[in-house]
Amino acid sequence: MTVVLRARDIHTYYGKSHILRGVSLEVREGEIVTVLGRNGAGKTTTVRSLTGLTPTRNGTIEIFGHNTTRWPAHRIARLGVGYVPEGRKIFGSLTVAENLKVPEVRPGAWDLGSVFRLFPRLLQRKSLLGRQLSGGEQEMLAIARPLLLNPRLMLLDEPSQGLAPLIVREVIEMVRHMREQGLSVLLIEQNAPLSLLISDRAYVLDDGKVVYDGAAAALLKDRELVNKLAGAGGNVGVGSTRGDRPQAITSEQRQG
Ligand code: ATP
Repeated sequence: MTVVLRARDIHTYYGKSHILRGVSLEVREGEIVTVLGRNGAGKTTTVRSLTGLTPTRNGTIEIFGHNTTRWPAHRIARLGVGYVPEGRKIFGSLTVAENLKVPEVRPGAWDLGSVFRLFPRLLQRKSLLGRQLSGGEQEMLAIARPLLLNPRLMLLDEPSQGLAPLIVREVIEMVRHMREQGLSVLLIEQNAPLSLLISDRAYVLDDGKVVYDGAAAALLKDRELVNKLAGAGGNVGVGSTRGDRPQAITSEQRQG
């Protein structure tokens, strides 16, 4: 299977702080790959390195066969790499419609029509300001923006953070839908059970290093291992009690 993203032994620093200490990971075409890890493990730093926002100091990054290690963020984005940052960086003082005026449109299946079909609530709230939206609606807007760039690879940083359980399921379902539309996805998540449920493979980071690399299904079955490697975040089941297997997401729940 074609590898769309490959990071080899990357080391990233903030000033003198050595945060990523040799992270290697890959995403193959059509995969959803999840990255788990406790707070401060280096998940956001990993995505920022991959997108060129916090360039890595050592190691190499290849995206769609290009060595992008030293590329600036805008050049990486132009390859067809969508990025949904942590904390939904939407424009609060602009309307939903204005937020969706992206600077560069790559031709493809995603346009305003298909985005509004996927997120009907955004259509209903088209004239509201970004800051007037609920957390879930803001997340949808944050996902819709890069979709309009028709990316081939999407990187999402904790899209479920701070959202109500039902909305979390909806967001996770959106990610699955993206894959069905042909995107490859790297998903950073705290919500281990749900992200593992839709993922093919998983990595767990701890203290800037990869401490697990394997099938998502294997981690999904081993809640104790997730807790050990990824900490409390691995134990956040949506509406489930400890030891429950997460349930598949139904259309009724999505409409809920
Ligand atoms: P979280 O789930 O809390 O977002 P994370 O796994 O995404 O955590 P990172 O945000 O990548 O972790 O942070 C990794 C480490 O880097 C932490 O120790 C954090 O304090 C540190 N760090 C993050 N951003 C900066 C920064 N701008 N300057 C200095 N240190 C930083």
